[in-house]
Amino acid sequence: MNQGFTLTSSTTFFSFAEIYAFSAKERDVETGLSYFGARYYSSDLSIWLSVDPMSDKYPSMSPYVYCADNPVKLVDPNGEDYEVVVDYKTMTITIHANFYTLKNEKCFLEEGLKHWTNEDGHFVYTIGNGENTQTYDIKFEFDIISCSTITEMYGKAEADKCGNSFLIKDGVYNNGTVPIRGGYDSGKIEINSDMTLYCIDDMLHASAHEPGHSMGIGEFGKGLMESGGWCYDIYETQIASSLKYAGFNCINDNMTFPDRPCNVSVKGKMPQGEGVVKKK
Ligand SMILES: [Zn+2]
Repeated sequence: MNQGFTLTSSTTFFSFAEIYAFSAKERDVETGLSYFGARYYSSDLSIWLSVDPMSDKYPSMSPYVYCADNPVKLVDPNGEDYEVVVDYKTMTITIHANFYTLKNEKCFLEEGLKHWTNEDGHFVYTIGNGENTQTYDIKFEFDIISCSTITEMYGKAEADKCGNSFLIKDGVYNNGTVPIRGGYDSGKIEINSDMTLYCIDDMLHASAHEPGHSMGIGEFGKGLMESGGWCYDIYETQIASSLKYAGFNCINDNMTFPDRPCNVSVKGKMPQGEGVVKKK
């Protein structure tokens, strides 16, 4: 974990020492329980980790996921949740979004978004063959805006054409057996955590995973976009999903949200023709 990670306010709901105590714990992978998609299981707490915030609304579904395959279908009336900026001068494609959060929760968002910005320049979008090949570097650009109150946060996020909110809430689920649930729905990220069962690894993964949904990316069976996973790997197909969601003719996507719960715009002229996202 990044040692620069700090909590910036004493008003937050857990201490730094608690976080590190949790992060030092071993994790068990119960591969025999792959019926649930190889979720992770805490041997210390004897509970499943990482479930979906919407599962209360869908009791027939397995609760052991961050997000349902078919998230709550809402139209965001307030514009886009992210935008894709095409710059032909620098040959870059930038995936951009703004995130509004409370001051004392900003640290999680910063840590989470770093997993995306760390990939700046590692992936390219390529169109055509031979002499006609066009190659664009792919970048991520996020602005994080601290707010003092939830009302202020939602207000600013809704007024921002490219705005999303990021909120961590206390909550008890399944009679206190489920420690955390993260969810994304139309510009709103919410991570609900039972602070008595709190696990920092789970919180940090959700803080990176849920913003992926705000970029139009669905669940994937491994890496960062695995629901309830622990790995932070980002794959070509995930970034391809974000571009395809924005309307790019990107052919190596395999995980776009089926019901498009977020909105996106493209700034600049979209590259014409079939393209693929490749790791450099
Ligand atoms: Zn998810």
